[in-house]
Amino acid sequence: MDRVREALRGPVQEGGTATARLIRSIIDIADAIEALPADARAAAERIFTVAVTTGRLDAPAAMHPWITKLFGSVEAVTAQRIVRVTNQVTLEGALFNDLRALRPMEVKGGDDVRTAIAAAANDPFDRPLEGTPSDTFGRIKGEHGITASNVAKYDGYHGVLVFDEHDPLAPMDGAKVRDHLATCRRWGEAAQAEDPAARYLFVMWNCLWRAGGSIVHGHMQMTATRGAHYPKIELLRRQALAYAAADGRDYFDDLWLVSETLGLGTVVGEARAMASLTPIKEREVIIIGRPGADETSLADAIAKTVQAYRAAGVVTYNMAIYLPPLSPDGEDWRRFPPIARLVDRGDPANKTSDIGAMELYAASVISSDPFRLADALRNG
Ligand SMILES: [Zn+2]
Repeated sequence: MDRVREALRGPVQEGGTATARLIRSIIDIADAIEALPADARAAAERIFTVAVTTGRLDAPAAMHPWITKLFGSVEAVTAQRIVRVTNQVTLEGALFNDLRALRPMEVKGGDDVRTAIAAAANDPFDRPLEGTPSDTFGRIKGEHGITASNVAKYDGYHGVLVFDEHDPLAPMDGAKVRDHLATCRRWGEAAQAEDPAARYLFVMWNCLWRAGGSIVHGHMQMTATRGAHYPKIELLRRQALAYAAADGRDYFDDLWLVSETLGLGTVVGEARAMASLTPIKEREVIIIGRPGADETSLADAIAKTVQAYRAAGVVTYNMAIYLPPLSPDGEDWRRFPPIARLVDRGDPANKTSDIGAMELYAASVISSDPFRLADALRNG
């Protein structure tokens, strides 16, 4: 710990990331926060609480060979450090165990997935004009995809952006993501032209089965809802406003300041991408644009995240885009930026769901280290 503190006391370069890079594990997060420059530390203390605890066990001698094979040594499991990080603004929380966090970033099952993707070719999405219904306002065509109406709807307006390419794991660059997001927005505007109250656009991407995607063919989905935004987005808006009212600070700027100075952030164009300190599940990346900018400003950072995922063998992930309403609703959205959240949904070869009672009802249990994810994002 002393070495880390010492390193962080040194001159801060590139907004602090150069020195903070010496922190290599979420397990050291309390020390890393303590060693931050004053303004970033104050922001960290406003937003996060960190608690470290040790879980202990006694292993019978008969188990020692198995434990050593799996975890390197018996000592490694005899005393396990667990770090609990809570975001006091949003009350999102994660539990990191160094035993889990130190495992290599690697996902199996990718080859089987590629075989299954190829076998699913010649599906209705390959011929969307015949194989999918259109919305009442018609179809929106982008450079790399075309919209369809979802057959079984989540909401009054529920569309699908069918990618031109069947393979959901085909290379994804910033231009493609930008085109997809622009097409989704045009879809939202068409929905709103038909029903002015349907001003709340939500864009999502469920890539493959573990992420809730039932259709293999590459696609995003869009909904347009009425009355108020979806509860999780409205909640975040209210939490950020309450933070500003209590502290006179912008929540999103403070979150970025903390993440960036800890070495968890990367600037991509106008977007600020950060490995979440309270991820909803593995390898969550939060990408924040400038208030007033639209979501296409996040495209390069989204593409970079997807590329980092794929480089790590991640083949199944969710993405969600949080946006202010497409037209004013009388509420204060002035400081609410476009936000993308992406999360790895685990190994497709694993039958065990990544989400259990802890994640649904308590806090997220996390195996991946945000600092490694940040490195992958920076170097990807
Ligand atoms: Zn297809």
